[in-house]
Order: sequence, then structure tokens, then C-alpha cells
Amino acid sequence: MASLTSLVAEAKTAAIILNKEAALEASVEQLTADLARLWKRQSRAFIRLLSQYKGRLSRQGLESLAYRIAAEAADPISEGEWVELWEDVEKLTEAAFATALVNGMGAALQAGGDAETLALGVAFDLASQPAQDFLAEKGGLLITRVNKTTKDQIRVTLGKSWEEKWSWGRLGKELESRFADMTTPLGPVAKHIRTRGELIAITELGNAFEEGSMQTAQTLESAGVMIEKKWLTSGDARVSAGCRENSAADWLALNGLFPSGHTRPLRFPGCRCSLEKRVAGGQRASADPGGGA
Ligand SMILES: [Zn+2]
Repeated sequence: MASLTSLVAEAKTAAIILNKEAALEASVEQLTADLARLWKRQSRAFIRLLSQYKGRLSRQGLESLAYRIAAEAADPISEGEWVELWEDVEKLTEAAFATALVNGMGAALQAGGDAETLALGVAFDLASQPAQDFLAEKGGLLITRVNKTTKDQIRVTLGKSWEEKWSWGRLGKELESRFADMTTPLGPVAKHIRTRGELIAITELGNAFEEGSMQTAQTLESAGVMIEKKWLTSGDARVSAGCRENSAADWLALNGLFPSGHTRPLRFPGCRCSLEKRVAGGQRASADPGGGA
């Protein structure tokens, strides 16, 4: 028979995981939609800029022939030429990406901080230096990473175009669908995630949520209340072995490392795990925010 203690612990875990999902739902939906809109904008802008070279893509085109002879170019549009255009597109959309990400991640940090506040009675401040540093650093890295992936996908599409000698019309369509691919279903690899945009949103906002929660706990520690943490999983069959191993570990000090080497979730993109925290010494923090015996 499952002990009452383990049933209570299970219910507590489910509540923490569900609360996190519910707290992030609207932000995940918003960021997913924002990313789809921004990729569409990038696709339109890039194809418009690239169209200045479309004459080179006609196989019979004199311009194409002249260009290839003059430049001894293997490709109708060189890497240097299209990369310059892509960098213009990146600049054009950078501010909009930053706004979407900072809005989403800020809301997630706050939600994570608030969730911890309920447990420990400390207010999370989005304007604090650690919160602002996290937003600036993660937001910037994410934009760079997202754009790099998109650029790599453009390179693949263009390479295929040169190889198969696509017309300008075909290339435009293929580029458009390559950008659209980022917002269409990923297939059976990720059951709880539908698109690349949603994967990014769930991952980045999940991370921000855990960070907000962690920062609140750190605030409490700097006030002299030591905190312990435990890794929680969704508890279903899809939980990865690495996350299960982390959850089997005992309570750790707040800055301790789990078996995977992480200090907190997420362990990988799309990870659904969270943390439970308590005042050090085995007493549930939520049971007595006053921290008494
Ligand atoms: Zn996980």
C-alpha cells in the first residue's frame, strides 16, 4: 500500500507542475504566435531583397550567363551576397524579436517568482538586477540562436536551388515554405509540442519561470534562510531517464548540482520538470512561512 506520505508528496508534485503549466499557458501561446508572425515578416523581407538577383536564376538568361562568366561564380547568388541581405533582415526584425522575447520571458520570470512567493513569502521583483541581467543575456542569446538556425535553413534551401537549377518562382516558393515549416507540426518526436515556435516558447519561458523561482529563493537565502530543493517530473511515461534520475536524488542545497549537472530545470529543450523548495532541515516551506520549528 502506498503510504499516506508518498501520496501527499505525489499530489504536491502534480500541483506544482500543473501550476507552472497554467501560469505559462497564455505567454507560451503569445510567444508562439509572435514568432510565427516574425518569421513570416523575415521571409517576406528576405525574398523581396533577394529578388534583385532573380535575373540570374533564369537558365537561358543572358544576365545569368554574363554574371557567371564575369564572376566565375559557381552559384547564381554568392554566399557573400545573400548573407549581406539576410543580415539586413536580421537588423530589420531584431527589435520586434527582442520585444516579443522580453515580454514573454519577463512574464514567465514574474510567474515563477510569484509561484515561489506563495511558498516562501518573499516578493519577486522583475526590476531587480538579477532579473534584468537574465532577460538581457538570455534574450540576446536566443535571438542570435534563432536567427542562426533560420540562416542555416536558408543556406540549405539555396544550395538545393543551385544544384537543381530552380527558377526564381520556385525558389521564392521554397523559401516561403521553409520559413513556414518553422511554424508547422514537428511530427511524432515531441508529443506535447506542436511546432518549432512552440518548442522555443515552452523551453525559454519554462527556463525563465524556473529562474524567477530560483531568484526568489536566493533572495531568501541572502536574508539568512537556507533553502533546499528537489527535482520534480511530470511523472508520466514520457519523462526522460535523465530527469527521472534527477528526481530520484535527495533534497539538495539551493546551489547544489543534480546528477545531470544542472542546478535547476530545464534539463533539455521541452523538458517539463520543475522544483520543489523548502526551508532547510526538512520542514515544508509552504507549511510554515514563518520558518518556526
Ligand atoms: Zn525534465
